[in-house]
Amino acid sequence: MSKSDKKSAALYQRARAVIPGGVSSPVRAFRAVGGTPLFMAKGEGAFVTDADGQRYLDFVGSWGPLILGHAHPEVVKAVTATCRKGMTFGAPCAAEVELAERIVRSYPGLEQVRFVSSGTEAVMSAIRVARAATGRQTILKFAGCYHGHADHLLVAAGSGLATFGQPSSAGVPPAFAAETRVLPLDDEAALRELMQREGSRLAAVIIEPVPANHGLLLQRIEFLKALREETSRSGTILIFDEVISGFRLGAGGAAAHYGITPDMATFGKVIGGGMPVGAFGGTRTVMGRLAPDGDTYQAGTLSGNPVAMAAGITTLKILERDAGWVHLESLGASAERILKPVLARAPFPMHLVRLGSLIWLSLHEAGAPRAATSLTPQANARFAKLFHDMLDRGIYLPPSAYEVLFLSLAHTEEHLNVFAAALDDALKTA
Ligand SMILES: *Cc1c(COP(=O)(O)O)cnc(C)c1O
Repeated sequence: MSKSDKKSAALYQRARAVIPGGVSSPVRAFRAVGGTPLFMAKGEGAFVTDADGQRYLDFVGSWGPLILGHAHPEVVKAVTATCRKGMTFGAPCAAEVELAERIVRSYPGLEQVRFVSSGTEAVMSAIRVARAATGRQTILKFAGCYHGHADHLLVAAGSGLATFGQPSSAGVPPAFAAETRVLPLDDEAALRELMQREGSRLAAVIIEPVPANHGLLLQRIEFLKALREETSRSGTILIFDEVISGFRLGAGGAAAHYGITPDMATFGKVIGGGMPVGAFGGTRTVMGRLAPDGDTYQAGTLSGNPVAMAAGITTLKILERDAGWVHLESLGASAERILKPVLARAPFPMHLVRLGSLIWLSLHEAGAPRAATSLTPQANARFAKLFHDMLDRGIYLPPSAYEVLFLSLAHTEEHLNVFAAALDDALKTA
């Protein structure tokens, strides 16, 4: 349990009366680790303060958007200045042109983007356009990749080799899931076999090129290349879901990192700098299918609003100006160097998996899996205890063993040392 959670506990009780599960998004409820979720009152740089006034070194970073840390002064200034001039018009504004230009200029192969208000919407809309552009219906996704909560993507692999989708949530019609195929990551043979049989009927293949929603399942470049090859051959649109990796690994996301250009890409998190922003993009031909030029409908009341755009533009400007991605890589390398000896002393298997500023503490025996595999109940229990022991030591980790830690430019090597010392101490009682 955390040191004191009186106010959080009272808020949670009130919340549960009027909000299902007391939360606006399920993982916030601490179900995987037990206990009462902390209600946050304040964020500053690398720290958050909860409703009970306790301060934590934060490695959640709102699950990815806060690449500059909490309440970066320049972002706050840009947002407040914009607010004073009107928060939304439901009409075009200059800021959305500027952010679109930045994204298009930075990301390989992209010619046009459209803004939405979440990653879920970005993916949902990208798939609609891909279906329109190809005149096909079926899509392929990979087990362990998360693409938001749209119906046809809340689908898990059924049993059997070539896997027919089954809804992984109540309320998703089986008929929707039936249009989704699911394959394991890291398996070229299964991919080639399915593409041979069904490639000509596939509208889109969607993947997190850096899968970061089921731990960090780093892919071999050969697998990503096979994906590019097979989709090109069958005229299927390859969508990179870069909602986490976009502008976090670098300005060109995973596409630039691996040197593989998808047909479409989806963005969210970092490009909104903490405001609700998503975007999807592709070539002019594909994106030209969208209304009003084309026949594919997609819209949003608050899409591209000046306040959200200001947060995004300022965030990307600072990353570029301050060589943000170089710093994040060196911070990540430091984390690896500082944490590895601590993990080596852990009384159970614990491995550090990292790409840039994304870090996963894997409790798998085997270290770094490349495809989705479940943790043992024992590993989950170990993480739950560790999570609370770290909270007691002032460290806020994501409340699930499958979630990655996000480093930001507000973190310093000193913070990493504090983290390592707390971890070393916590593992002594594990
Ligand atoms: C977070 C996430 C989404 C969904 O974004 P929301 O803004 O939560 O709707 C989609 N894809 C990936 C890869 C994500 O990490």
